[in-house]
Amino acid sequence: MGPGDQVFLDYDGTLVPISSDPTSCFADRELLSILDGLGEEYDMYIVTGRSAEDMRRFLPPRYRVIALHGALLLTSEGDVPLIPDYSRYVEICNSIALRKNEIREMFHGARLYNKVGGITVNTWLMDTATRGRLEDFMRSLAEESGMELYLGKQVVELRIPGVNKGDAIRKFRKHGRKALIAGDDITDEEAFIKNSDALTVKVGPGETSARYRVSDYMEMRSLLRELIRRS
Ligand SMILES: [Mg+2]
Repeated sequence: MGPGDQVFLDYDGTLVPISSDPTSCFADRELLSILDGLGEEYDMYIVTGRSAEDMRRFLPPRYRVIALHGALLLTSEGDVPLIPDYSRYVEICNSIALRKNEIREMFHGARLYNKVGGITVNTWLMDTATRGRLEDFMRSLAEESGMELYLGKQVVELRIPGVNKGDAIRKFRKHGRKALIAGDDITDEEAFIKNSDALTVKVGPGETSARYRVSDYMEMRSLLRELIRRS
């Protein structure tokens, strides 16, 4: 890796720990200094399933963020949809979000977030049986609405069909440039598989198609610091 090469980093679980409170995963000072160091040498993107609103709260606007698994690019100049029918899915999400209270009552511990281009239910506070029932409910909601069901770490999500980190990253890859891609969750596997020529890094345990592995976000930060030091 050298100056001008590319770095694509997942956010939750990769740069910051997975938190029981998904609304407060703010970037700390150490992380910001790593990102600034990377940004000076590399063509850097944060690639996340999070909403634009969350990422705007967690990170200063100077970073480029590919949000909603690849549906939206956030830049300091504003948001750019990366898919043609983005606004239609925003409407679908807004109508599902109207059922928020009903869903909370049906599934104890459910915390529903309208990502405006995706719906996430955080299941951290939920028991296994309730999570199972929620998954069935969300599966039928996905069929009704034309959204895609995704089951992740402590989340059940409806996301825009066909949108994935792998294709999103490929859109931004530059010919002849090396790329480092890091992530901790199932959505990141799509990024690894569709970019098999890249330096792919799995964060944490579990099966992976990535070429390398680090144990957690802290070891990932060490690796990134090393990358800055060597550039
Ligand atoms: Mg993650």
